[in-house]
Amino acid sequence: MAGVDIGRVGVERVEGWGMAVGSTVRVVRPRTVEQLRAALREAQSAGVSLAPRGTGCSYGDASTTRHGWSLDLTGMNGIHDFDCGTGVADLEAGVTIRQLWRTALPQGWWPKVVSGTMFPTVAGAAGMNIHGKNNFKVGTFGDNVLDLDLLLASGELVTCSREENPDLFHAVIGGFGMLGVITRVRTRTTRIHSGEVKVKGISCHDLAEMMAYMDAHTGEADYLVGWVDAFARDESLGRGLIHHADYLEEGEDEDAARTLTLAHQDLPTSILGVPKGEVWRALRLFNHPAGMRLMNAVKQVAGRMEEWQGFYRQSHAAFNFLLDYVPDWKYAYSRRAGEGLIQYQAFLPKERAHEGFVRLFEEGHRSGHTPFLGVLKRHRPDPFWMTHAVDGWSMAMDLKVTEANRASLWEACRRFSEICLEVGGRFYFAKDLVISPDAARRAFPAERLEAFLALKAEVDPGGLFSTDLWRRVFEGDPEGASHGPLGAEACA
Ligand SMILES: Cc1cc2nc3c(=O)[nH]c(=O)nc-3n(C[C@H](O)[C@H](O)[C@H](O)COP(=O)(O)OP(=O)(O)OC[C@H]3O[C@@H](n4cnc5c(N)ncnc54)[C@H](O)[C@@H]3O)c2cc1C
Repeated sequence: MAGVDIGRVGVERVEGWGMAVGSTVRVVRPRTVEQLRAALREAQSAGVSLAPRGTGCSYGDASTTRHGWSLDLTGMNGIHDFDCGTGVADLEAGVTIRQLWRTALPQGWWPKVVSGTMFPTVAGAAGMNIHGKNNFKVGTFGDNVLDLDLLLASGELVTCSREENPDLFHAVIGGFGMLGVITRVRTRTTRIHSGEVKVKGISCHDLAEMMAYMDAHTGEADYLVGWVDAFARDESLGRGLIHHADYLEEGEDEDAARTLTLAHQDLPTSILGVPKGEVWRALRLFNHPAGMRLMNAVKQVAGRMEEWQGFYRQSHAAFNFLLDYVPDWKYAYSRRAGEGLIQYQAFLPKERAHEGFVRLFEEGHRSGHTPFLGVLKRHRPDPFWMTHAVDGWSMAMDLKVTEANRASLWEACRRFSEICLEVGGRFYFAKDLVISPDAARRAFPAERLEAFLALKAEVDPGGLFSTDLWRRVFEGDPEGASHGPLGAEACA
């Protein structure tokens, strides 16, 4: 296919968001479906695999590749259409959630599902079937996709929806890029009458209190999320702060014309007088167990004060994208290649979730790998084949990775996985770097997994699409990141 334009090409280090895995590879950046199709053919002629990638916001190895080329779709980022009457958005794969909300909000709409950061692309969001703080209410990102276009390894472009190619639709959403390249996504948004939400903080003495409050409010709340102090023990184990947020009704915001402007959503440029871009350096001073124990304790006290305040208003961006307040906060963990953080997010069925989370925290304390941050969410099931969603709860736990602790951390995560599996839990590949092939096999229903693998063999018989995650979990790659320290190639 010499002479056919495949878009911009380079050789770069491509990492997982948490920085604990990455390698130097050829990166191909098509800007059109034609360039993308040509890139697929060129990879096939060269006998290499392609790892589809959005903005690389998956914490682990879901969009990295040691072997083959990285297929960066961020250049395909046009907004085909936004219908301000229905709130339906027709988007190219690389459009980010940030682009989407900035288009929708001034017209009185907000994305149905957003992650804790605004930077993922819509194809990456579909590829992982992401969830927000409102999963119990509106389902996952996939639940709100109307249809999408998928470029298969054969070069054929197919539209997938609940009616058209329904198997592909239910397998591609949450199918971590292994069935083809999503080129277009059509999704719903939510009608809003204000640029703000009403937020209330609820300080909780332990995990049971936190789960009881959230369970009691899933019927009426629009968003519920719990921050958990993972250092607390004994009768305080799982203490923390819930944020409960609701949309404003029509007419409730007398200043809606102003709050629905983009200027009102912009996050502040400094925090306590420090330019935002420098704040991670200050956070670095606390990025060790003693520092994080202190920060969690301070937050617990601040949470009590927040509760006394009652409901207050916050812009949609400030409420949803708290983590974006501090750019590059991950660098507080490390700036060395192969070090950083992993997030372990356990999804547990409601019947045994409390028991499972208590055991996870106790295992963290016992092994010396206490998460620096815990985040609790309520979920509901969905119909996607490889979904992580359960009728239950998830706890996302941030864990520091250093060269010295890597082997023992992986061993602790192996025990975390045993606990999850014992209580009937699942894992989430957007956050994963540690799950073994055996744990994955036990976590997902056998018939779903088999159907997914059969569909992969049918639509990608030559194995054109492959990532480090795929090889680690589904092909049992002995060099996979789950098997201890990174090799030299990965740290190049
Ligand atoms: C700070 C932070 C907070 C987060 N909060 C949340 C949260 O609240 N909820 C949540 O669910 N997730 C959350 N995430 C995870 C994030 O939303 C997901 O990892 C998401 O998939 C990232 O999208 P991306 O565009 O960066 O895709 P990538 O991470 O680059 O890729 C994700 C997957 O999609 C595939 N893919 C990407 N583009 C395509 C395409 N065009 N066609 C086919 N496959 C493709 C990739 O191969 C990969 O398997 C968070 C991440 C960060 C860093």
